[in-house]
Amino acid sequence: MPELHPTILVVEDEPPIAETIVYALRTEGYAPLWRTTGREALAVLVQQPVALVVLDIGLPDMSGFDVCREIRRHRAVPVIFLTARSAEVDRIVGLELGADDYLAKPFSPRELTARVRAVLRRMNGGPAAPGAPADGKWRHDAARCRISYRGRVLKLTRNEYRLLAALVAAPGRVFSRDQLMAAAWDDPGAAMDRTVDAHIKTLRAKLHAAVPDDDAIVTHRGLGYSLREET
Ligand code: CA
Repeated sequence: MPELHPTILVVEDEPPIAETIVYALRTEGYAPLWRTTGREALAVLVQQPVALVVLDIGLPDMSGFDVCREIRRHRAVPVIFLTARSAEVDRIVGLELGADDYLAKPFSPRELTARVRAVLRRMNGGPAAPGAPADGKWRHDAARCRISYRGRVLKLTRNEYRLLAALVAAPGRVFSRDQLMAAAWDDPGAAMDRTVDAHIKTLRAKLHAAVPDDDAIVTHRGLGYSLREET
């Protein structure tokens, strides 16, 4: 099950805005954690599990874009950008930084909590109960966006995580490329079939690195992919 009070990291250097966000999140049952600089935010992410990051782009020490890039190197945690300038919106949308959503200032606290809820629901969603051991070999901790295979926690990019989460939710079920694309990409129309194949390839390599001699992903020619069922 997802955590009772998911930790939301709020990275914002303007106290009045941050306080409004923190208050709104707390009222909605989240556990907000407020940091004012990019460095402090990255330190938190190393120290503890965070369900989602609300990230201001204009920070005193580094830009939110760079913070996001740094986060993406290690974690699949979803990011919602806060921006004060419309020029930044173009960059968020255009740069494929892996932002899950963004809000332009000024925004209402209600707007923010609705976005947070929607992104978390999307992350935790899927046909099977999230977080449950889907199969003896697999463990999906949706609150931490973490999947382990035979006891090994896999280091996954955001799209790899979403893609594998879909497969893990239904071992044995054959997913078409379209279905996997819809599960893993925010804008499936922009991705191509090859993208799914490329991600399956890196997933296989990571699984192989974690547990050699165990091909967990099955290719169904002309149909798609499935996870090998426990026999
Ligand atoms: Ca700012």
